[in-house]
Amino acid sequence: TETSAVSRHVAVCPFPFSSHPATLLFLSRKIVVSSPGVHISFFTTESSATALKASLPPEGLPTGIKFYHIEDGLAGESGWIHPLEAMRRFMEVSGETLRRSLAVAEEEIGVKISCVVADAFLSFVCKEIADEKAVQWVALWTSAASDLASHMYTDELRSRIATGEAHYEDSVDRHIPGFPPVTIADLAPEVVVADLATSSIARMLQIMSHTLTSASSVVMNSFHTLEPDITVSLNSAFNNIFLSAGPYSLTLSPPDHGGAVHDPSGCLPWLDTHVSAPASVVYISFGTAHTPPPEEFTALAEALEVVGVPFLWSLPNRFLACLPEGFIERTGKSGKGKVVTWAPQTSVLGHVAIGAQLTHCGWNSVTESIVSGVPMICRALAVAEQKFNERLVVSVWGIGVEVEGGKLTKAAAARAVERVLLEEEGKKIRETIRGMKKLAEEAAAEPNGSSARNLNKFISIITT
Ligand code: UDP
Repeated sequence: TETSAVSRHVAVCPFPFSSHPATLLFLSRKIVVSSPGVHISFFTTESSATALKASLPPEGLPTGIKFYHIEDGLAGESGWIHPLEAMRRFMEVSGETLRRSLAVAEEEIGVKISCVVADAFLSFVCKEIADEKAVQWVALWTSAASDLASHMYTDELRSRIATGEAHYEDSVDRHIPGFPPVTIADLAPEVVVADLATSSIARMLQIMSHTLTSASSVVMNSFHTLEPDITVSLNSAFNNIFLSAGPYSLTLSPPDHGGAVHDPSGCLPWLDTHVSAPASVVYISFGTAHTPPPEEFTALAEALEVVGVPFLWSLPNRFLACLPEGFIERTGKSGKGKVVTWAPQTSVLGHVAIGAQLTHCGWNSVTESIVSGVPMICRALAVAEQKFNERLVVSVWGIGVEVEGGKLTKAAAARAVERVLLEEEGKKIRETIRGMKKLAEEAAAEPNGSSARNLNKFISIITT
């Protein structure tokens, strides 16, 4: 940006872990493209910035967005650190490092920040920063509306459990009006199970539930027809600030859509070799943060060879050693399988050859499957809201199956793949999720879809 042309300076603060920064970057892109004169300072850690930049299309960042590095709290420590520990360390330093970097950005751009756009996870620090600057703040929630609602009611649910008025096996809608039919035990562990004294993430989310209502607006990665009742209920309980503006993979249009797809491993040309068999290939990914134990990768590979369905597997290099000896060569040579370290997932799921996604039920992956009408095979981990998402997918919406026993053994993985790719059950699920895909498209359609309108409303709050 020519700083002389900057009329508004917006600070965007992602939670610098897993897929969160990418989502905030897509929102930033959307803002600068639609709002000339707006400059975005994007505050993230060096490692997250490096990962983001590597995933950008060749044309790079649009003008009008500048990265500022903030500290990660690791003080140069190298080697693998458990994601939860890394988050805890970052949270300790986040207030100080963000304040310092925001001051640097204001100095460099020469325009005071007029709005803080926070990942909702960072409400605990961004509300304070916005208050100090006497500017408004808005938040982006990366997950479902019902998941956010469960956090908004954490104090109430915890106190009802403590007094015996609520029980883990209760249907949540007995306590939160309009909630989908799942039990309290299905909610993310941070809502009621995690100990607030020892879990910094649970504490962070609890503070979020106290502060979020002072945000001018909160966007959620959902669409009205997906979670109609809870969205209405949330808004009537809390200031009418919540906007369903997803699925983000449609409304925030990442670079995979439209421009040239960044596909260094050749996933799409490989899928093209399977076009004669539509909906026949299983795509496998466990997201960007947590993974199942390595022995499950071994079992899954064995299952894939036994069942013989074609597969495309996004698997970080450090797990290649878990695969059975000769697996990659055998399946590669026969044209049955391809293992890559990273796949352009949204484009992959949109490919006609894809018939199922085996997923950890990260919310982005779930909504991307909906957007492509691809049934899911769920292997959720007991972290964050993955188990809750799995319940929504399998029991509430009927758009996927779970792996029996919850773990990828050779038999359970083989069975789940057969059910979705080879049997009548899979066809029914595909029909259901294709219906949902239509609803998602309607919500995201410019200019009158509900999510498109909500996103425009959100952006105009940020930029005016
Ligand atoms: N993703 C991708 N290629 C891969 C693996 C993951 O593009 O090979 C993307 C995927 O499309 C999704 C995100 O990474 O947008 C993962 O987000 P999700 O919420 O599913 O899981 P998380 O990583 O946050 O656990």
